[in-house]
Amino acid sequence: MKVGVLALQGAVSEHCRALAACGARVKEVRTPAELAKMDGLVMPGGESTTLRHLLRNGGLWEPLLAWEKPILGTCAGAILLGRGSETLGRMAMELDRNAYGRQQESFEADVALEAGEPFPGIFIRAPVIVFTDDNCTPIAWHNGNIVGAVQPPHMALTFHPELTGDRRLHQRWLEMVSR
Ligand code: GLN
Repeated sequence: MKVGVLALQGAVSEHCRALAACGARVKEVRTPAELAKMDGLVMPGGESTTLRHLLRNGGLWEPLLAWEKPILGTCAGAILLGRGSETLGRMAMELDRNAYGRQQESFEADVALEAGEPFPGIFIRAPVIVFTDDNCTPIAWHNGNIVGAVQPPHMALTFHPELTGDRRLHQRWLEMVSR
């Protein structure tokens, strides 16, 4: 099993480290040829409009639209996984970009999961998942808002698990990749 981390912007090395710590073989992905060799792909955060431009300019947008393997999207990556006019639309969910506004650009807060200890959430100009449908299931909550969801084999998180030492969510996505 080999997973890729889209290396166009965001916390690429942190995602690589988290996945490797879970036992996965990890490669940075910048080209369609590299993408084609992967069993799953992480799309890190950054800025979704920029990320979309970089994907288009790098010739990765079309290959990704046709790609059927598992994706983990964090923050801006989650925005591109959801529904919208210019997204990959892989998951039946809608997000509100920059949902916390300028007053609360970045913060750390406990995220409730369905079971177990709360997850240490790091939110950076984070979106919120405002609607889920069909087979898209919420898995993480902060202050009554949905901040994580799965639609197997995809997972969307509005916060940054790669910036913590908690590997539970990377592990959970890798289990979907290996299925
Ligand atoms: N607010 C950004 C956007 O709209 C996402 C922020 C992030 O990825 N940390 O794309």
